Amino acid sequence: MTENYKNLIVGAGISGAVLARLLAEKGQSVLVIDRRSHIGGNCYDFLDENGLNIHKYGPHIFRTDKEEVWQFLSRFTSWQEYKHKVRAKIDGKEVPIPFNFTSIDALFDAQKAQVFKEKLISNYGENKKVPILELKKSADKDLQELADYVYEKVFYHYTLKQWDLKPEELEGDALARVPVYTGYYDGYFTEKYQAIPKFGYTKMFENILNHPNIKVQLNTDFKDLKDISCERMCYSGSIDEFFDYKFGPLPYRSLNFELKTLEQEKFQSVAVVNYTGKEPYTRITEFKHFLNQKSPKTTIAYEYPTAFELGKNERYYPIPKQENEQLYQQYLKLSQKQKNLYFIGRLGEYKYYSMQSAILAVFELFKKII
Ligand code: UDP
Repeated sequence: MTENYKNLIVGAGISGAVLARLLAEKGQSVLVIDRRSHIGGNCYDFLDENGLNIHKYGPHIFRTDKEEVWQFLSRFTSWQEYKHKVRAKIDGKEVPIPFNFTSIDALFDAQKAQVFKEKLISNYGENKKVPILELKKSADKDLQELADYVYEKVFYHYTLKQWDLKPEELEGDALARVPVYTGYYDGYFTEKYQAIPKFGYTKMFENILNHPNIKVQLNTDFKDLKDISCERMCYSGSIDEFFDYKFGPLPYRSLNFELKTLEQEKFQSVAVVNYTGKEPYTRITEFKHFLNQKSPKTTIAYEYPTAFELGKNERYYPIPKQENEQLYQQYLKLSQKQKNLYFIGRLGEYKYYSMQSAILAVFELFKKII
């Protein structure tokens, strides 16, 4: 017997779950399927055997300037206030990332540091974000020296590990997400709202999906779905997979995590320490910082970037290159030939979305289709 739904949503990650909720609240029936055994997509978190909250697919720190995004999520969770700080070990010192005036003071003698700080302010203004590739273009000799130093010590090796590309080969604004900061502010983000769901991301998604018009079916691959009919389909899997790789596969970067539980209270001073040199991992996350959890033990994750290989690992990052965008556009055009079929999220739209930008995109789509 065929089950009828107004909407089929493929993928129970952030885009799928938020869209499901919006449609359900308009009185429409929604079936959400996911081939994984859990909801939440790559935002999924869980409690380990010591009660520590672990982000299975790497650190997720929610932030937004958009009132409507904050208000929407706040219906489904209370929040743990959390200001994300990242450090990196450079020349034996642990300094803030984004590289800022504290980083300069720690790494250069007082006279040199003063020159760098004054020149940064006179060229770019105070408390400004300067992308490293912009700083590299500076005609000033001192700023050139600083730019070369930061490029080598912060960006070059990290970016090579993360993307298998040199910083200047990476297109789009990925690199500009982590600027050089012309002041002492040491937060990783500058958005008005920065917080972690108090009871975890998974619980928040459970609440979002908990609606009488929503049915969730896990361990269900779209390709194996039978006896379901729908009027509209929103697909948050990778668009190339949907079309059987007709034009060739869209490349992604993937990650491997090595988790360790240590018999000590704290491992590092902040949740995330970046490793910007030649070591094979890019960062170590110590999860207990996010929800300020107390425990005599701690769990950390080493993060190793790697290429995405079908059937072997998971997709994490679309790779911002023009040729990939062109390939994606071919799939997009094909998808637009089918009525009532929409692609959403990082994989569906092949976009390096943050959580808030994924939600905003879904808000826009919802306005269009409803
Ligand atoms: N990046 C870097 N060194 C750092 C931090 C970031 O080179 O210490 C570059 C790198 O190319 C990275 C990009 O900036 O992929 C964006 O960093 P972000 O922390 O936003 O990445 P995400 O948390 O999304 O993996």
